[in-house]
Amino acid sequence: MEQVGIITPAARPSPWGLPAKPANQCSLAEVMSEELARELQLQEEHHVFPSQDSSNDGAFVTAENIDTSSDEVLAQMLQMQFDKEHDAQLRREEKKFNGDSKVSISFENYRKVHPCEDSESSEDEVDWQDTRHDPYKADKPTTTPKKGFTGKGKDITTKHDEVVCGRKNTARMENFAPEFQVGDGIGMDLKLSNHVFNVLKQHSISEQRRSARLHDKKEVSTAEKVVDPKTRLLLYKMVNAGVLDTINGCVSTGKESVVFHANGGSMEDQAVPSECAIKVFKTTLNEFKNRDKYIKDDYRFKDRFSKLNPRKIIRMWAEKEKHNLKRIEKAGIPCPEVVMLKKHILVMSFIGKDQMPAPTLKEAKLNLEDSRVAYYQVLTLMKQLYEKCNLIHADLSEYNMLWHDGKVWLIDVSQSVEPTHPHGLEFLYRDCRNVSQFFQKCGVSETLNERELFNLVSGLNIASDNQADFMAKIEALEKVNEDHVQNHAKKISTFQKDDDGPPPLFNE
Ligand code: ATP
Ligand code: MN
Repeated sequence: MEQVGIITPAARPSPWGLPAKPANQCSLAEVMSEELARELQLQEEHHVFPSQDSSNDGAFVTAENIDTSSDEVLAQMLQMQFDKEHDAQLRREEKKFNGDSKVSISFENYRKVHPCEDSESSEDEVDWQDTRHDPYKADKPTTTPKKGFTGKGKDITTKHDEVVCGRKNTARMENFAPEFQVGDGIGMDLKLSNHVFNVLKQHSISEQRRSARLHDKKEVSTAEKVVDPKTRLLLYKMVNAGVLDTINGCVSTGKESVVFHANGGSMEDQAVPSECAIKVFKTTLNEFKNRDKYIKDDYRFKDRFSKLNPRKIIRMWAEKEKHNLKRIEKAGIPCPEVVMLKKHILVMSFIGKDQMPAPTLKEAKLNLEDSRVAYYQVLTLMKQLYEKCNLIHADLSEYNMLWHDGKVWLIDVSQSVEPTHPHGLEFLYRDCRNVSQFFQKCGVSETLNERELFNLVSGLNIASDNQADFMAKIEALEKVNEDHVQNHAKKISTFQKDDDGPPPLFNE
């Protein structure tokens, strides 16, 4: 730099006495720039390490002993600090989110500073990766490295460092299943090699599976059990995407499903109700085996059924409930409104208020007046279901109708079928019998008997005054219908070999 205005004693002697000692001559500009540089340096260091105090766990390098000359190292340290802060915040959020809930959701996958990561691939990976509203999406690695110290600098400890990795492996044993005994290893300065760690991990996993199998045998089915890690992940993703705000307690553990209450969030293209019900179809239970017939003989599923494994069949139940609910809603029958379906999880509006589900007709203990009101609603509802939705509930009873706001609401329609189903009319007859018996018990004097109700709903005029004969006639009708359907299908396949593929699976 050009030196201007150099002032020396010789050039301008002091008029008041001895000239000042011409010690260490240097330019003002130099003095200024040096001071400035020092100041800036201090400021910068303070900025980079604002809290190098006791709150830090000590594992982090301090400002004094680090060589700050390399921008790369600085950048990586910054990244590390940033990642750690992110993780700390995440832990706080996780704690807040889970509270004392029995069912907890882990945010582990969103941690930035993972101890030596390894990737596991599963045969049934969750393929729903909707990260549109994922608040962490922006932080997910695209160009920025995920971890602070992964570069190749000479003083950098990488995740492949044997000692560090060994310690981290030891710490990771904490993540094994709680029943897996890991001894005091975690508290000691034990270093596990990757190989040993992997063997232990594998063993822990197989132990977990074995104990799950034992549970299966005992047929213990609890809310916790149905919320397996994959379900938990799907639920977490719904929260993460903002569709749901919070997932609250379990409303019911039914035969085929577990229902939770949730506070609704928001979606771009659809309003989300403030209170939602999450129906998680059980993926582990035997119940579905007994119910094959509902889906196997439903022509809408016929082609798909034979090729599917049990897990996929259960997803189909959820799918079926969704489509049926949409049809029912379209016909103006009070029922839950579908919010979204992800695999075996169906989110719908919650029938009830302030986390209290509406009572079923069974639980509602209606007085005679309300019972009568309810009865006429059920008559209308059954007729509309048959005529407008072309559906038969197939599990209609006082347990699957809720009483809310002075209205009867229809729920649990995963098994509902079309009247042309090979056993559709039998299902309708059973529904009619349940309804008639219930309202008779309630004391509603005008209750039709099941055969009258059947004729009213179906528009068929089966003349018979006893149950056995009536059933025989229903079965005969089903047989005629079945033959008719088969002939029709044969004709189609003979004459339309080159059609445009199968008809749509559902007509909503
Ligand atoms: P079950 O075997 O007992 O019939 P399920 O597995 O068939 O149960 P559902 O009948 O659909 O499942 O739901 C079980 C219970 O969960 C219902 O009786 C009702 O109390 C509650 N429930 C389900 N859906 C809703 C909803 N949308 N709003 C409020 N409560 C609901
Ligand atoms: Mn039910």
